[in-house]
Amino acid sequence: MRPQILFPLFASNKTLPGVGPKVAEHIERLAGPHVLDLLWHLPTAIIDRRYAPKIEEAKSGAIATLEVRVEKHVPSKNRRQPYKVLCADDSGYITLVFFHARGDYLAKLLPEGEKRIVSGKVERYGTEVQMVHPDHVVPLDEKDAVCTVEPTYPLTGGLAQKTLRKAIQAALADLPALPEWNERHLMGREQWPDWQTALQSAHTPETESDLDLCSKPRCRLAYDELLANQLALAMVRLNMRKAKGRAIKGTGTLKEKVRTALPFELTASQVAALDEINDDLESENRMLRLLHGDVGSGKTVVALLAMFTAVEQGCQAAIMAPTEVLARQHLETITPLAQAAGVRIVFLTGREKGKSRKEVLDALSTGQADIAIGTHALFQDDVAFSDLAVAVIDEQHRFGVHQRLTLASKGKATDMLVMTATPIPRTLMLTAYGDMDVSRLTEKPAGRQPIKTVTIPSERMEEVVAAITRAINDGNRVYWICPLIEESDKLEVAAAEERFATLKKIFGEKVGLVHGRKKGAEKDAVMKAFSEGDIDLLVSTTVVEVGVDVPEATIMVVEHAERFGLAQLHQLRGRVGRGDRESTCLLLYSGPLSETAKERLKVMRETNDGFIIAEKDLKLRGAGELLGIRQSGLPVFRLADLTVHDHLLPMARDDASLILANDPQLESERGKALRVLLYLFEREAAIRYLRSG
Ligand code: ADP
Ligand code: MG
Repeated sequence: MRPQILFPLFASNKTLPGVGPKVAEHIERLAGPHVLDLLWHLPTAIIDRRYAPKIEEAKSGAIATLEVRVEKHVPSKNRRQPYKVLCADDSGYITLVFFHARGDYLAKLLPEGEKRIVSGKVERYGTEVQMVHPDHVVPLDEKDAVCTVEPTYPLTGGLAQKTLRKAIQAALADLPALPEWNERHLMGREQWPDWQTALQSAHTPETESDLDLCSKPRCRLAYDELLANQLALAMVRLNMRKAKGRAIKGTGTLKEKVRTALPFELTASQVAALDEINDDLESENRMLRLLHGDVGSGKTVVALLAMFTAVEQGCQAAIMAPTEVLARQHLETITPLAQAAGVRIVFLTGREKGKSRKEVLDALSTGQADIAIGTHALFQDDVAFSDLAVAVIDEQHRFGVHQRLTLASKGKATDMLVMTATPIPRTLMLTAYGDMDVSRLTEKPAGRQPIKTVTIPSERMEEVVAAITRAINDGNRVYWICPLIEESDKLEVAAAEERFATLKKIFGEKVGLVHGRKKGAEKDAVMKAFSEGDIDLLVSTTVVEVGVDVPEATIMVVEHAERFGLAQLHQLRGRVGRGDRESTCLLLYSGPLSETAKERLKVMRETNDGFIIAEKDLKLRGAGELLGIRQSGLPVFRLADLTVHDHLLPMARDDASLILANDPQLESERGKALRVLLYLFEREAAIRYLRSG
């Protein structure tokens, strides 16, 4: 249960003054639903309103806070003319200028003959002094509140800076004093403020340098977040390692059959990875290994052979994929090999219901089935294995830590192999997995042709269509990826449908469409038609991004490539170049391009190496955006920015492992404070692994 001291932080934004349903909606979209989300929405600029000169001295172009007497209203004569309010102090006159203003509102705001504080940008035209739309107009007794340094927050359309600031200030006024979870020694060395003070100062910057992500308060907050992340991961790991593994030796007979049935030789990388995995399986320690290989490097077959080792020993194995499309693809790859070896497989996704689902569950719980292939349906509560020894999780980063563990907990000391195609830089790997053992597939299977990458302005779409027409006539297949629209699924689907319609006019029945809103069965049917060649051109949103394997596909068209992250483009490109034909990736872009977008497209043209691309991506975009937030299951940090705070990560990792070595149940004074930290960052799933809960 969440500690009581955190309740106000997890209250709804709506409880804050000035936050009605409409504003709450905006804030939720901008930051999140809770008061805490708002507190973590930090300012990115300041406006210094402390400059309070006489009108006569006020410098043109400066933000100034002035004390004035309202002299005279001059309403506009027509809609194009502004409404003016003439004001003065004992040094001179200033005209406040309002466009499209309502006279009755202004009469109330600035009553003739009264004094007011106005703050905004001063402009001089010859002898005339003006202020267009003052940011603040308040009575004299509120001068101190205005005459300060104002934080400026990133906004979303429809939300006013003032409204947001007011809500945040109210939240800050009610900040609980949380127990200190950081070590005193560290706090002293880094000269970090306590949590409450850190958050207060982060929201009340006085100079530009206070906005710096490396300022002490911001570093402290970032460290807290990284510590929560590393501690949760370390707890999960500790829990996994606690249970002793078992030695799985396997006889080699099934693997031998599979290897004969395979139409290719394993690469040296695949053999090396298999050796590492088999060593893990044979040892008494529980395996917790990441199989990391670029797209198309052939991870599936490695996983398959690892699973067969379990089956040879008379145990079960499971492989879990993040989508139905991928799970089905694994089914198709594995079925013939399993048949060759006489291994019994079952398939389970959210779609298996009623009788067929029950049959699958029975086969698993009685041990009639050796291998289960499926989606997260595999770790639902009523799924029981008779003896699950090896669990493989494909495209790992899409699953949360908790989901990964649930599958492993379905067996006794189950060995875990997780696979990812996403080239993740070392730093990020640490935040996503903690210290896992890693095997890497560093080479592509022999016979692969490098993929040619071309960038083309979207005005030249006709040339692209002509080129793919030729390619299709030559028996090639083509992916056509529609633009990524971060804000809206709906728009994204609409764009794909529109493109589908235009391409259909050209290519007729040979065009198919898949997107996230299609039903599973429909998606499968289209994917199947594409992989069997009934469809030559597959229009799609980014759902095909991960894992899909159609060797005959040789052209990848990506529309609005400038909107995609590097890693994502690389993933998409990896869908082609899987057979022995030469493949091409056509990146269509619409200008004008930002510097970053230019650089990204350049990197894509220049290299095919996923690891180089990942490092570049981290530099160019920052960790939060690395994979496109929607696409990744990697932790997205709110306060930490790994391009700046990367030095804090190893500190947090070491801290976390020391904490658990000294106080594995988090029972000491500091341990209790650390529990609060875990709840604060919603890492409470990890707390379940503590004995006392
Ligand atoms: P990924 O690592 O992206 O998951 P896959 O496991 O889907 O890659 O493999 C991509 C393709 O390469 C598949 O068609 C697979 O059969 C093939 N493949 C795997 N290993 C080899 C190999 N050693 N030689 C030739 N082709 C291979
Ligand atoms: Mg794969």
